[in-house]
Amino acid sequence: MAPSLSRTLMVPPLPPRSATAKSSRRSEPRSRFRRVMTPAVPALLLAARPRTAEALPGFTRLGAAIRRWERGSMALPVEEWRRCAARCRAALGPALRERLEAAPPGEALRVACGLLRPGAEEAAALQRLCRRARTGKEPAAARWYREEGNRRFGGCCYGDAALLYSRAASHELPGSPEASLCFANRSAALFHLGHFEICLEDIARAQSHGYPDRLLPKVLLRKAECLLCLGRVQDAADTLAAVENKIALDGIMTSPAHQTLLKKLNQLKLKVLERESCPEAARETCGDTQREPEIWEENDSISGASSSLSLKFNTEKGRHLVASRDILPGQNLLKEEAFVSVLCPEEGESCLLQDSGEMVWDTRFTNADLYCHRCLKQLLASVPCRGCSYAKYCSQNCADTAWEQYHRTECSLGALLLTLGVFCHVALRTVLLAGFSEVSRLVEWSHDDDEDLHNTKARCKHPSEAPDTRTGTRGIPGCNDNGQYQSSYRAVFNLLPHAEKHSPEHKFLCMLSVVAICRKLQEAGLEAAVLNQESSEKGSGTKACEKTSDELSPELQIMAEAMLRHVLQLQCNAQAITVMRELGSGDGAVVNKKPVRLATAFFPVLSLLNHSCSPNISVSFSGTAATVRASQPISSGQEIFHCYGPHRCRMKVAERQQLLSQYFFECHCQACLEELESGDKSVVSMRNSFCCPSCQASMQGEDVLCCSNEACARSVSRESLSRHLRDLQRQIKKALELLRDSRADEAIKMLLKCQMDARNFLSPEHLLMGEMEDHLAQVYATLGKWQEAARHLERSIQIVETHHGPSSVEMGHELFKLAQILFNGFAVSEALSTIQRAEKILTVHCGPQSTQIRELQEMKTCLLELPRSILQRT
Ligand SMILES: [Zn+2]
Ligand SMILES: [Zn+2]
Ligand SMILES: [Zn+2]
Ligand SMILES: [Zn+2]
Repeated sequence: MAPSLSRTLMVPPLPPRSATAKSSRRSEPRSRFRRVMTPAVPALLLAARPRTAEALPGFTRLGAAIRRWERGSMALPVEEWRRCAARCRAALGPALRERLEAAPPGEALRVACGLLRPGAEEAAALQRLCRRARTGKEPAAARWYREEGNRRFGGCCYGDAALLYSRAASHELPGSPEASLCFANRSAALFHLGHFEICLEDIARAQSHGYPDRLLPKVLLRKAECLLCLGRVQDAADTLAAVENKIALDGIMTSPAHQTLLKKLNQLKLKVLERESCPEAARETCGDTQREPEIWEENDSISGASSSLSLKFNTEKGRHLVASRDILPGQNLLKEEAFVSVLCPEEGESCLLQDSGEMVWDTRFTNADLYCHRCLKQLLASVPCRGCSYAKYCSQNCADTAWEQYHRTECSLGALLLTLGVFCHVALRTVLLAGFSEVSRLVEWSHDDDEDLHNTKARCKHPSEAPDTRTGTRGIPGCNDNGQYQSSYRAVFNLLPHAEKHSPEHKFLCMLSVVAICRKLQEAGLEAAVLNQESSEKGSGTKACEKTSDELSPELQIMAEAMLRHVLQLQCNAQAITVMRELGSGDGAVVNKKPVRLATAFFPVLSLLNHSCSPNISVSFSGTAATVRASQPISSGQEIFHCYGPHRCRMKVAERQQLLSQYFFECHCQACLEELESGDKSVVSMRNSFCCPSCQASMQGEDVLCCSNEACARSVSRESLSRHLRDLQRQIKKALELLRDSRADEAIKMLLKCQMDARNFLSPEHLLMGEMEDHLAQVYATLGKWQEAARHLERSIQIVETHHGPSSVEMGHELFKLAQILFNGFAVSEALSTIQRAEKILTVHCGPQSTQIRELQEMKTCLLELPRSILQRT
């Protein structure tokens, strides 16, 4: 029997996430497959836990993962600065306000610049706000985090320890012995986690940062052990020889620590001898067989798009993409690397938490700890920025590239950028990546264009007025002279800023914020860096501008104008990059996941897609790259639609329209039209509704709900039903706490009671009903009662299907969970058919090469290799 399968039968008891799996992992280099097969079962169940039980009547599931707009509060400047800007605007008086609103952006920015002159009240207020965000290097923080890391290490929480050592390292000066200690400590944690390759990298890093000589033997022994685990016996032997030499040179010591060292050395030498005498069969170095690449024919005129699409333009729809031939579900339509992306801080990001003075470091890990500042790769052993404690990278290479491209300018602006929000940060990085000459070319072009529009409408600059349709894509905004639309700065620049539609208050806030950035660049002497990004052949080079000047230099003025345009564009064009993030640090038995917004980005090609509440594509992300696939058959001539957030499955039409109106349009998609026509009662509200406590018929009405059964006529206030719902959610939460305390039997009892209670006032399709089934499945899975778990999960899946549809990505993830439960329960034929269903759906949404599909296939292979005796039992 396949050895990995026997292990899958022993699912460790639920958390406390920490010590459980460590001993087995220590000597287990291939942790991925094991992780998937064993602890991931309850883990995925945990994933469905609602994030904000109070706000949502049901569980968020995965559906909420791909939101395009979702203006999180982190996108905009902090509340206090928004208020400050509003006060500043109010104080201007009506005449000046009016002038400002009518002025072209360049002139308005000049006025804003005067308002934010050094010494002005607003400038001082902003400075105070920035002090709350701590992005500098603080030795005291480094010490605190390292000690905290040691504590976690002592408690065998190696994942947490590694992250804390990373935090500590980010506060140390590069090249200092203290930094080297952080890396060495982290290497020990990584070793325990089974990340041997990365452990070796950290050991090398420690050595290159001046690791204290006297401590060297200990780390070198760890290195040898790593090499042995990786099967590099000769390298291990060489390392051991080096340790022996070193010890001999240092002379004989009799301390107990030294004795342990010698003992360890001898043990390892024995191991090397063993290995040398009986060389193991070559370790499978690359188990992943490369799959055939998907068939892909790139479009001639749209970079990254499939040749099955074509770019169209008309006044009603603007630019949009249309199928130029029939498209099958799952077909790859677009692969695009973000032009620019900025890692999002999270609500309550640690460095934004404290008010000045109060020193509070916390050990909650956020996006900045877990993902590379540049490429968004998940971090195991981060490389800190040389200048700040905020930016952490996956590799020295990423750190260097980011520094070259933008971070040398952004580094000292960290606190300001956190205070002003992600949109401002994206705007700055966009112009830095584009380079001054390209920015100034396009800003000047936009001035010409404005003049053209004012003077004559003749020159047929606007493609809608072009009489000749044979020009194809030539003349469509953002296309180059050959009619090609590429993911370039030109394309970004041509995204619509909707300048005339934003509220004057919002525009003023954006202006003041952009000016604040430029002023800071000038003050910090970074202007040259900004303009040198490409070349500054323009004008007389970069003369250092007077720091006291009330005006921005002409060059910075141009940058400011472009940045303002980008901030305004972002409101409609920001694309969220989302992932399923593992909660905790990966050393627990249970991997808890939730969808998180990782970054905000510009994808100029993806931005060509219009919105529909019932989209025909699915978007997935890998690092900073987006992939778009058809989620249903699309026939030639049909438009390709992306859902920007308000999906028909998750909201009523009124709610969707209201949300979309913030983004300046009214949705006329099929779903909206149908729902509007059919009257007010949308499907969603019916499904997620209350039912009559007396007769279980559905309840209708606003503040007071009445039973729809005329014979019953019971009425209840919405308020009391909502209170009942909140009580229920609290009970469910308690049940989950019991589960976390390994009191599974009590948790089951409590959940069953909740279910009884819920049946009295929630409709059978209510999301919360599904959630309870899901939790029950989770509890049974932790007890190894797979049959019961599967039964409950199947009921939960029915509800998911009602809400999201049978071929939705949500269904795919649910079936994936079910497949794992059936797999663990040896329900072979059911497992195989569920795997097939999950595979079919997830291939469409995530592609045949995604990890989920791979995991499903691994499960299938495992099941098919089972000996007959087991198969017959089922
Ligand atoms: Zn990276
Ligand atoms: Zn930095
Ligand atoms: Zn719609
Ligand atoms: Zn009734």
